[in-house]
Amino acid sequence: MSDSLSNSTFSDQTTGTHQLTNPTLVLNCGSSSIKYALISEDESTRITGLAENLGLDTARIKHTKLDGKKIEISIPGGRHKLALQKILELLEQYHFIAVGHRGVHGGREYSEAVRVDDHVLSEVKRLKILAPLHNPANALGIEAVQAIYPDIPQVVVFDTAFHQTMPPVAYRYPIPKALYEDEKIRRYGFHGTSHAYVSERGSALTQAKGPHGWLTAHLGNGCSATAVYDGKSLDTSMGLTPLEGLMMGTRSGDVDPGLHIHLKRLLGMSLEEIDKMLNSESGLLGISGLSNDLRTIEQAASEGHADAQLAIDMFCYRVGKYLASLSCAMPVFTGIIFTGGIGENSATTRARILEVMRHFGIKFDAEKNKSLVGGAEGSFQSADSSIELWVIPTDEECRIAQETRQALGLERVE
Ligand code: ADP
Repeated sequence: MSDSLSNSTFSDQTTGTHQLTNPTLVLNCGSSSIKYALISEDESTRITGLAENLGLDTARIKHTKLDGKKIEISIPGGRHKLALQKILELLEQYHFIAVGHRGVHGGREYSEAVRVDDHVLSEVKRLKILAPLHNPANALGIEAVQAIYPDIPQVVVFDTAFHQTMPPVAYRYPIPKALYEDEKIRRYGFHGTSHAYVSERGSALTQAKGPHGWLTAHLGNGCSATAVYDGKSLDTSMGLTPLEGLMMGTRSGDVDPGLHIHLKRLLGMSLEEIDKMLNSESGLLGISGLSNDLRTIEQAASEGHADAQLAIDMFCYRVGKYLASLSCAMPVFTGIIFTGGIGENSATTRARILEVMRHFGIKFDAEKNKSLVGGAEGSFQSADSSIELWVIPTDEECRIAQETRQALGLERVE
């Protein structure tokens, strides 16, 4: 492994067409999975993979090679450390020059990507209290790279960082001041790299004169919406934790804060049981009783399953209601950008959400909307629409690689 920033280029042996020059390794370490991508400095070429089912007998790495061939490596019972060792072995030959980690919770200390040192690593570990599933996995990823390649610079790009531009009216909760000052209880927001990526892309694609005001709707298993004006997050739907805001695959999103005490009194449920119920058993899964996967629910609804239909209706109603309220955060409203697995693929969900926002003068081309699926990028508003409507596939890995290079001074900061 090269520990210098010298120029190193790798081409696919069979075609010679793929150039993987000075690549950055992007690691997204979750509680039971690790997504990775090796991205060339010009962002044109990448190697990707996924380690999944970590800790189980079925633990495995699915790796796509530079020439597009896929391989699978079983690592029965393997956890993060073993998976990372194997991933680093697979990628060693490409001499990556930096590692960028997706960090989930950076608290209020980090407003941009930060180079890893002892203090940053200890902060990632300390903030476990705010992101119990993700921050420990992030720390394991950082330590695994440190152990094998101590000279490779590492950067953490926190999901919360993009939202540090929110004003106090948006990030404070109306609760006693001391809880904010002493305990940092406030709204942080998440999915920052995705909201940053698609809003920047929207501003590059639109003909509208700037500064632009975008509502970005990241609708996947986790869902959040953000008001981005002039490249800055002004408000977002997730809060102290990723539970606040929109209805999601298994998370409830907003509920009455009095629900906890009510369930304790009524059913004797513990805080842990309520937390699990709201995070893992609610949302699309809780209402449909079928699945957290929208495809399954759409299929069931088309066959007359009433709870599946209600799950879709509630999901769209809540997204539309939130987007309408978030529009208050911006001085201008240029358009809505849909992204994430649902936002990029379900034209019917996009249409239903826009129907909920009936007082905004939004008009769209139904056929164009239907055509924007499966990774397509484009706009679908009608000529007489009050705002623009875009589908922009998110690329969090690319954004993390860009921010990693910037944090290390490997390219000019624009
Ligand atoms: P994650 O938040 O885990 O990254 P994704 O962004 O991949 O999740 O989104 C997963 C969601 O996208 C699931 O609810 C899935 O059903 C939905 N989805 C993916 N493809 C389609 C499709 N063709 N039609 C409807 N929903 C889809």
